Amino acid sequence: MSLFSQLEFRYAVHQLADMPPDDGAEVAFAGRSNAGKSTAINALANRRKLAFVSKTPGRTQAINFFDMGNQCALVDLPGYGYAAVPRQEQARWGELISAYISNRNSLILLVLVVDARHGLMPLDRQMLTWLAPTHKAVLVLLTKSDKLNRQQADAIRRQTEAELARHPGETAVQIFSGTTKAGVRQAQAVIARHLRK
Ligand code: GDP
Repeated sequence: MSLFSQLEFRYAVHQLADMPPDDGAEVAFAGRSNAGKSTAINALANRRKLAFVSKTPGRTQAINFFDMGNQCALVDLPGYGYAAVPRQEQARWGELISAYISNRNSLILLVLVVDARHGLMPLDRQMLTWLAPTHKAVLVLLTKSDKLNRQQADAIRRQTEAELARHPGETAVQIFSGTTKAGVRQAQAVIARHLRK
């Protein structure tokens, strides 16, 4: 898919003041540290090392911007919820992420990467709370689905869809695996559809 073949790293932003101009169309990826966000981005882009797959969870602290051509960007938000990160540092990321999600005009779709074995966790719900007033779209990738059987995957999908019913924007839930590539094509199609809007 051409949208994803053009991805190129552009900026790492550590503080709000350094945010690039807010004048394009952005798809942002968020998720708990170790949920599989980097692996999901690499699978969607069909690259092995575009996003850094961490050996140490919680290391990707910046907001990373990747150009996709045509004024479109993929935005990799810092993973959250890693207990070993000092509280003060976690609070700083929270401020950066909340400011981005709440205020970024260019954001058109938030992709929330969630471990399918756990489903939505409190910090994931926090992302949805920040997104809700903007009425913007969210796609939840229930990743590591290769670790579940069919019934378990269906159950977590239904449970997640029920929770998302409260979100005042468009929602989609996709069973996903960066390992088996399950759901990659479907997720690419959702993202491409939003970027064409
Ligand atoms: P991030 O911190 O959210 O970016 O997570 P990573 O992409 O670095 O993945 C965290 C760990 O989960 C790594 O050991 C990955 O190999 C593993 N992982 C990620 N996605 C999958 C998946 O779909 N299936 C399985 N079995 N493991 C995965």
